[in-house]
Amino acid sequence: MVIHCEEVWREVSNYLDGEIDPSLRTAIDEHVRGCQRCAAVLDGTRNVIQLYGDERMLEVPLGFSQRLHRRLDDQMPQNRRTVLGWLVAAAAAVLVAGTIELSRLSVWGRPDLRSQMAHHGNGVPGNLMVVVAEDGRLFHLAGCSFIHEKDKLRTMTAAQATHDGYTPCPRCLKKYLVST
Ligand SMILES: [Zn+2]
Ligand SMILES: [Zn+2]
Repeated sequence: MVIHCEEVWREVSNYLDGEIDPSLRTAIDEHVRGCQRCAAVLDGTRNVIQLYGDERMLEVPLGFSQRLHRRLDDQMPQNRRTVLGWLVAAAAAVLVAGTIELSRLSVWGRPDLRSQMAHHGNGVPGNLMVVVAEDGRLFHLAGCSFIHEKDKLRTMTAAQATHDGYTPCPRCLKKYLVST
């Protein structure tokens, strides 16, 4: 099955949720392997979801300009005008337009979040036992609903996970991350 970029963007939320036909998943995997743009869209969307969780995503569209918003609205298929769908289109349009870096999209609304982590560690006690997914970038408390690859988990201390380049999950480790 050969699919186009637009189809990848349309399915990206289902793809990341795991609610997708296996053959379509394979087709997307194959497409993304050969398409940098879609790989970036997928990556960016995954970042946004992991950073904010669903409840936080509502804040993101407010950060966009009216003009961009309108342009994205035109591009969105009617039945996919959900926040996530909107965000995916935003990520895609941003890449196409090349005006805003995708990495900035992922910290929109919390511009302090990333630098805070970079400068002062991440607030998670180093001896806390956490789990990481093999191909993930976050570390979690065991049993977190945000863990995608439940079969490929490794257990380690938070200090080790941080040292290995993982960042704390904003959902299950939220209490350590909230700054006062
Ligand atoms: Zn593509
Ligand atoms: Zn988590």
